[in-house]
Amino acid sequence: MADHKVLAGARVVLPTGIVDSGRVIVAGGRIVGHAPADAPSVDLTGHWVVPGFVDMHNHGGGGASFTSGTVDEVLKGVHTHLLHGATTVVASTVTGDMDFLAHRAGELSELAEQGDIAGIHFEGPFISPCRKGAHSEDLLRYPDPAEVRKLVDAARGHARMVTLATELPGGLDSVRLLAEHGVIAAIGHTDATYEQTVAAIDAGATVATHLFNAMPALGHRAPGPIAALLQDERVTVELINDGTHLHPAALELAFRHAGPDRVAFITDAMDAAGFGDGVYHLGPLEVEVRDGVARLVEGGSIAGSTLTLDTAFKRAATIDRLPVESIVRAVSANPAKVLGLYDRVGSLEPGKDADLVVLDAEFTLVGVMRKGEWVVEPRPA
Ligand SMILES: [Zn+2]
Repeated sequence: MADHKVLAGARVVLPTGIVDSGRVIVAGGRIVGHAPADAPSVDLTGHWVVPGFVDMHNHGGGGASFTSGTVDEVLKGVHTHLLHGATTVVASTVTGDMDFLAHRAGELSELAEQGDIAGIHFEGPFISPCRKGAHSEDLLRYPDPAEVRKLVDAARGHARMVTLATELPGGLDSVRLLAEHGVIAAIGHTDATYEQTVAAIDAGATVATHLFNAMPALGHRAPGPIAALLQDERVTVELINDGTHLHPAALELAFRHAGPDRVAFITDAMDAAGFGDGVYHLGPLEVEVRDGVARLVEGGSIAGSTLTLDTAFKRAATIDRLPVESIVRAVSANPAKVLGLYDRVGSLEPGKDADLVVLDAEFTLVGVMRKGEWVVEPRPA
């Protein structure tokens, strides 16, 4: 009982609303309801305390790739994002050879078993060549349910999500297969029509992979996937709020239409996140990062981001001027819910992991706690 910590004086964002000068009590790695009278108190007056961020779509950081890095490099990438507030990270792979991806799934599943990552997201190879973005065209394939199954099995229960172009042959059967296995079918890198997208949602798809990016634009006669994904209550839409992938007006449109409970901020980060400009690789493709923007050397496609979720939060609060409670849902609660992790993470409630982020009054990150331990310790107010 000696390890109680009382975080006092901050504006605390709870699922029920904002509490001014609230208290968060932590013990044994979890949030608890009460503390003994002599428990040490940390004064966080003037700061915000919000739930730790949950990144459901992230390819790496700190110079390391989740697709091709060594185990130590993957851990370094996860730690880089942790320093920026992401206390839960799903490791995303990019398109690769099927045997390579199956092998990689086995390696990443060990990290998931140890609790270092919250599972695996396969982005590709089952995507559209018309909307391939920074994926190798010669390795793309149709979403044959047997092949999708191969990757899910290789991940040994830790496949969380597969992004696929559901309009391709085998697409709808693959969506059904994923739904049956409790894996999120995410619609993305797609050239689908509005009607094809509706059919995929009816088949069980529940996530829009980086809405707007790598899919047909919204048209008034051909509304395409964007309208279908925004309209349907069953779908959570991912947004990359880095100022490069989306115009602020597009972000606002999505937020207003989907409402605060169906938006998930993601980073879609690649190796350079939290690291710096330079030349990197995304799977087999060469990427140049200049001024924080990652583009393929060949063709110039945007190739993931260098975003971290603390920056996405700050942009949302200061540039997009979204309400803090809505931002908290987008970076924590909503991704936790869609991933099936909300019983453990995603909000500041007794019984959950003591994962939290401390922000100053200008929404700059000043503290990170994971499972009750400070990773970044805030200076007392
Ligand atoms: Zn991605």
